Amino acid sequence: MLLRCPVCRCELQKSGRTAVCANRHSFDYARQGYLNLFLSHGGSHGDSAESVRARTRFLSRGHYGFLKDRLQELSASFAHQVTVDLACGEGYYTAALYGDEKYGFDLSRDALKHAAKNDPSAQYTVASIFDLPFASGAADLVTTCFAPIAKDEIMRILKPGGIFISVTPAADHLFELKQILYETPYLNTEDEPPFPLKEEQQIREVMHLDHDAVMDLFAMTPYYYHTSEADRRKLDETDHLDITASFLIRIFQK
Ligand SMILES: [Zn+2]
Repeated sequence: MLLRCPVCRCELQKSGRTAVCANRHSFDYARQGYLNLFLSHGGSHGDSAESVRARTRFLSRGHYGFLKDRLQELSASFAHQVTVDLACGEGYYTAALYGDEKYGFDLSRDALKHAAKNDPSAQYTVASIFDLPFASGAADLVTTCFAPIAKDEIMRILKPGGIFISVTPAADHLFELKQILYETPYLNTEDEPPFPLKEEQQIREVMHLDHDAVMDLFAMTPYYYHTSEADRRKLDETDHLDITASFLIRIFQK
């Protein structure tokens, strides 16, 4: 397999419920099937169980289904022998991607428990996307949705000519949510592309959300942690809300 030992970077081999390298460093598969290759020294990392639950509920109701479908189409149109999803979370997009051999990486064990349980099509692994236990020059297709872009590692693991797809919020993403939360809502700034662009697409859909979906969506956003109790209450009082989901999909070729 293409996973590498996080201690010595040798190839890992699957042996029963364990992945082991030539230097006998070994890592047990979790009951759900994911592998933990993150060498942490205690503490929790990645998204919490609470935010994973909110996101899972929201995604399972299909509000971002149009993005998932577009990513699936795109992944079918490029070489996809080996597909790698970075910051894969609970595997909502990973599961939809084409790939003969698929890998999903994330720091959140809570998210990967869910991913591994629901999607046997990919090997899910706990690791930092900035220090991937993964072979160099091995991936045909790499994706990152709503997460920092680990430029150096993406360049390292891609095959020559390999494709990287990033999804980031477009300027007007969730604007109606911000109109409720803030006196002066601002548009998102769109980041500069990290590599030369091959193609860029913007997709947008207005979501009709009930109260529970609005609150789950709010819990998925960075605003959740930076909003006052009073502003939070304004949102909690909404019965339903139409909110724009707007994504920038960028395609790069190594
Ligand atoms: Zn090793």
